[in-house]
Amino acid sequence: MNYRHAYHAGNIGDVLKHAVLAACLTYLKRKDQPFRVIDTHAGIGAYPLALEEMQKTGEWQRGIGRVLAEARPDAVARILAPWLEAVAAANPAGPLEIYPGSPMLARMLMRPQDRLTLTELHPADHATLAGRFAGDWQVKVIHLDGWLALGSFVPPKEKRGLVLIDPAFEVTDEFERIADGLVKAWKRWTNGMYLVWYPLKDRKGIDRFHRTLEEAGVRDVLTLELSIGRSDPDSPMRGSGMTLVNAPYTLADDMRVALPWLRDVLGEGPDAAAVVRQIIPE
Ligand code: SAM
Repeated sequence: MNYRHAYHAGNIGDVLKHAVLAACLTYLKRKDQPFRVIDTHAGIGAYPLALEEMQKTGEWQRGIGRVLAEARPDAVARILAPWLEAVAAANPAGPLEIYPGSPMLARMLMRPQDRLTLTELHPADHATLAGRFAGDWQVKVIHLDGWLALGSFVPPKEKRGLVLIDPAFEVTDEFERIADGLVKAWKRWTNGMYLVWYPLKDRKGIDRFHRTLEEAGVRDVLTLELSIGRSDPDSPMRGSGMTLVNAPYTLADDMRVALPWLRDVLGEGPDAAAVVRQIIPE
């Protein structure tokens, strides 16, 4: 396990992932009933900019750094507010000093009745994560393979909520593992909301993943993609996508407004693109 998210926190991939995660959590809060968030690949929870890893790559500067520096039109500001207000709340002094990863973001958006289950396999990252949430009875941090968590933690007793599947893509068959885990989880908990993040590197793998979902009978599948259109093969990832099952019905329309703005702010080449596509209907 070589991947450490601290090198990449706040980058263009996190922008898409965390804006969408925050929007989905905000939607869940429309009803009073409790929900559970299951984050299968949680990382360390939050990322101080002072971390050596963050300083080394500076990837956040081309992601959250640019987003915060731009004036947002009202329609975009409304859609990104759940995410950016949490980022602001994590930095009460004003300037960005700490970037909330998915666990901290979820925690900030939860209410007293909601619960968060986090699994992280890297021993050091798990220890950091466990330390961050020590004593927080709404959060369970488990040193466990996220794929096992996906198989055994659904459906949660709340019967409402979402699963974030955000693996490290260090192995070539990651899409097969995702498809397998997601289909099995969906069969056990068909009403759950599932959010899968992936880099835009292997188009054939992405298409195969989507075909597997379709063949398995999964319904209501939405994909979102945000690419900054860099063509330099040595530069970091040029973009990322998310595949959502049972996304809030408002999300596609909201992302048709927010993603083109993010594309314009983050784009670095003529191929920069924002895509919103319902690939399998309800
Ligand atoms: N979700 C986090 C966020 O948005 O802040 C970032 C997660 S990072 C992309 C992927 C994480 O998965 C890494 O911290 C890595 O150590 C962890 N990981 C890798 N393989 C895993 C596995 N099989 N089960 C659980 N965690 C794993």
